Amino acid sequence: MSFTGLEDIYSELGISPRVYEICGDVLSGLEDRFKEIDATSEFCQLKVLHAFQKNNVNESCLLGTTGYGYNDIGRDTLEKVYADYFHTEDCLVRPQITCGTHALALALMSNLRPGDELLSAVGKPYDTLEEVIGIRASKGSLAEYGISYAQAELSKDGTPDLENIKNAINDKTKLVTIQRSKGYQTRPSLSVDTIGKIIDTVKSVRKDIICMVDNCYGEFVERIEPSDVGADMVVGSLIKNPGGGLAQVGGYIAGTKECIENVSYRLTAPGLGREVGPSLEALPRMYQGFFMAPVVTASALKSAIFAATLFEKYGFSAFPSASEERHDIIQAITFGKPEGLIAFCEGIQAAAPVDSQYAPEPWDMPGYDSKVIMAAGAFTSGSSIELSADGPLREPYTAYFQGGLTWPHGKYGIIKAFQTLMDKDLIIC
Ligand SMILES: *Cc1c(COP(=O)(O)O)cnc(C)c1O
Repeated sequence: MSFTGLEDIYSELGISPRVYEICGDVLSGLEDRFKEIDATSEFCQLKVLHAFQKNNVNESCLLGTTGYGYNDIGRDTLEKVYADYFHTEDCLVRPQITCGTHALALALMSNLRPGDELLSAVGKPYDTLEEVIGIRASKGSLAEYGISYAQAELSKDGTPDLENIKNAINDKTKLVTIQRSKGYQTRPSLSVDTIGKIIDTVKSVRKDIICMVDNCYGEFVERIEPSDVGADMVVGSLIKNPGGGLAQVGGYIAGTKECIENVSYRLTAPGLGREVGPSLEALPRMYQGFFMAPVVTASALKSAIFAATLFEKYGFSAFPSASEERHDIIQAITFGKPEGLIAFCEGIQAAAPVDSQYAPEPWDMPGYDSKVIMAAGAFTSGSSIELSADGPLREPYTAYFQGGLTWPHGKYGIIKAFQTLMDKDLIIC
């Protein structure tokens, strides 16, 4: 390639001069917001670095252990780094925690006992938790162990209803779960400040109720985390924000000494706890990923805001809307017809570093009542901190879009998706 201009390379990658120009215009209006995001990511980057240095991370921490994994200094130090970042007494971060759902299930199962009640403070929890809790019957659910479940409904505008939460607490209530990100719902995601208000409300009824936050997709979006406003446990997945796109598996649970001790005995076995669990070869990526995560999260946030602004301008509805403050990295865009959703996902896939030659097809995914389309040309299978989009093929044909390991890639993915809709006459401009 002999050209050196940006427009030329975009053209080579299938972007027309018209689309290039449209996108440039949209981006020039986003400079102030991007500055704000960069400032948050700078703050979080230094917080991460501080946690590394405070715990004297050294080269030998990057070596793993095998077998039982006794005396795994790298693993134990990484857990201290996480605990310091989240300002918690303790933390477990392990490749043996296979995903976000597993981390959440562990946190719940290890801290609840038969006869206790679990309360969801913000309406229905994330889909996969329905079987963990037993809202949908499943083998091994909390319900099977005699743990009951209650849910405080949201107010009409989708925000938490503090009165409902207070009223839903009873003598059996042992643990309250608060989901930060909206997931596949249409309610707004929660700010850390709002989470603090929910926790204050719960603790004002009874101090000993454990407050757990499903922190998936929320890490590094704000300068503080839910554990800074009173959460007893924060839980998340390493193939989302805190893995920085490098961790290939894993989950974390950060929290009070007592909660984490309970988790450790459920993660392995009573008596063994955190002493076992080899880190194998996972540590370098887990450390480096956590180090990169603030900047990677910032890229994902910029991509989300750019997508919302661009598609809103051309008549599609975005949730959160272009101008709204962000509390997680998920962007929903509604196309109103299947062709739009499919074209968007095709564009995201075509922009991927891996598998860009394949077109995503709607398929019957287990657990869904309609076909689902997914675009993900990712280095790590299922990673949703990498540029990805998916959505069910049903009204109102909404794509849930997230990630982008680098801002230039996130930007290109959205431009490519826009171009794909243009090429199919699905955008009029
Ligand atoms: C992704 C996610 C989960 C579950 O994580 P998996 O890693 O997919 O099991 C739970 N809650 C929320 C809000 C999520 O976004």
